[in-house]
Amino acid sequence: MKKVLCFLMIFISCSKNESEESNIAQSIPPAEAEPITIPPDFDNDSIYSAAKPKILASYWTAFVKSAALYDVDLSNIEEVTFISEDLGGSTAGIANGSCEEYVLISVDETLFRNLTVGEQIFLMYHELGHDVFNASHDGGGLMAPNIRSLEYDLFQTEVKDFFTKVDFIEWTDEECEFIRGLTDN
Ligand SMILES: [Zn+2]
Repeated sequence: MKKVLCFLMIFISCSKNESEESNIAQSIPPAEAEPITIPPDFDNDSIYSAAKPKILASYWTAFVKSAALYDVDLSNIEEVTFISEDLGGSTAGIANGSCEEYVLISVDETLFRNLTVGEQIFLMYHELGHDVFNASHDGGGLMAPNIRSLEYDLFQTEVKDFFTKVDFIEWTDEECEFIRGLTDN
């Protein structure tokens, strides 16, 4: 009786091994590999990757293209100026055209070039948000008042919420008066 049992066990074990082998054979990947999908990021996004820190005006081109994605047409705005200047060491960019008809962005290029690509895009979109739309910090998101290193997908959401006016609050008349007073000095 013992012998029969032993023989059966060997037989079962043997057939199990065979089936494992055939599974291994089937799991070998086919010669044609699946195409590798690269996740979108600031440096491969078609709009952001065209913006170059050494060409400040390229951020305006990117901003106009991003706006167009949400049917906001900025092609009629012609007076857009970027000036490179020393902003005192801790400020990388200033929007001088808030509550004004023009767009005038000051950039401290020494600081700006040391930011990450995401920070550079965020900073420029934030300052352009002030000048082009008179957007205040109260809207949050893109207009929250600090440079942040943003993950690409979150930034995309903030840009969308800005252009679709989900996260958007304009400076009030009183605030504009105050801001104009600051820039007149
Ligand atoms: Zn700001």
